[in-house]
Amino acid sequence: MSLFDLPEGSWETWTEEQCVEALFNARWPDGFRCPRCSYAHYSVIKSRKYPLYVCASCRHQTSVTAGTVFHGTRTPLRMWFRAMIWLVAEATSVELSDILGVTYKTAWLIGHKLRDALTQEANEQYLSGVVAVTGGIYGWRRASSSLVMEPTDEPVAIGGTMEGDEEVREIKMEHLNKRVAGSSRLISRNAQMAFSDFHVSEHAKVVRAFPYFGMNKLAPLSAALMHTLRWFDRTLQGIGPKHLQAYLNHQSFVFNIAKKESKVVPYMLRLCATSDRITYRKLTRQAS
Ligand SMILES: [Zn+2]
Repeated sequence: MSLFDLPEGSWETWTEEQCVEALFNARWPDGFRCPRCSYAHYSVIKSRKYPLYVCASCRHQTSVTAGTVFHGTRTPLRMWFRAMIWLVAEATSVELSDILGVTYKTAWLIGHKLRDALTQEANEQYLSGVVAVTGGIYGWRRASSSLVMEPTDEPVAIGGTMEGDEEVREIKMEHLNKRVAGSSRLISRNAQMAFSDFHVSEHAKVVRAFPYFGMNKLAPLSAALMHTLRWFDRTLQGIGPKHLQAYLNHQSFVFNIAKKESKVVPYMLRLCATSDRITYRKLTRQAS
């Protein structure tokens, strides 16, 4: 991910104008390009909320937010940047609406749009190096010790790039298709293969994982999955299958960004500036 110029000081002190400047640089790190014809020269119309850039060749008009995650937003960019920080701090939509002073619906939508940007990034990246894979069940009630998958169970696989036996550098998680997962609550070889096909680089050395959740050798990986599933239940009061993958990507990002020493706002800004927009309609209509 290439770097781009940021306004002076911390994002917390930026004016809305400086936020626009940051987004402009995130979107066009090598200078403006018309989204329609790629021409580099433009003029600016400043009468709107956000400046309009008019292509000097085809006259196409665009803004910093057009076609990005921020498309059509009425929430100041500063608030979006705050939301990014709080997302990494695992804030819920209720907490986010309190912190930002917006309605629950707006907070929920901001959270989901940011998660969607993370999902698009996750879909384009593979785990490499020495990769271990294991899995678990979301919804496995403590009372049940049966190993047979129940209708309310949601099987989840987790893979991680390992550094030695103790350290996990990067993780990815997948809400498994139940047909792939099979009828057992232990992660099948089939499911591990399916996960590897989709998430692991073909050059990586894949360590075939143990089917048992919490085996010692995979303790750090199991711990990451355990933390995620607990967060779903305790903090979010449960998540339906429809949005489970988005929240798994959210948690993977929280885990991965902590290992990367990247600054959250510039990192996410780059993702958001280059992701396709997702609408509220699409979010609420998407099939599970
Ligand atoms: Zn143009």
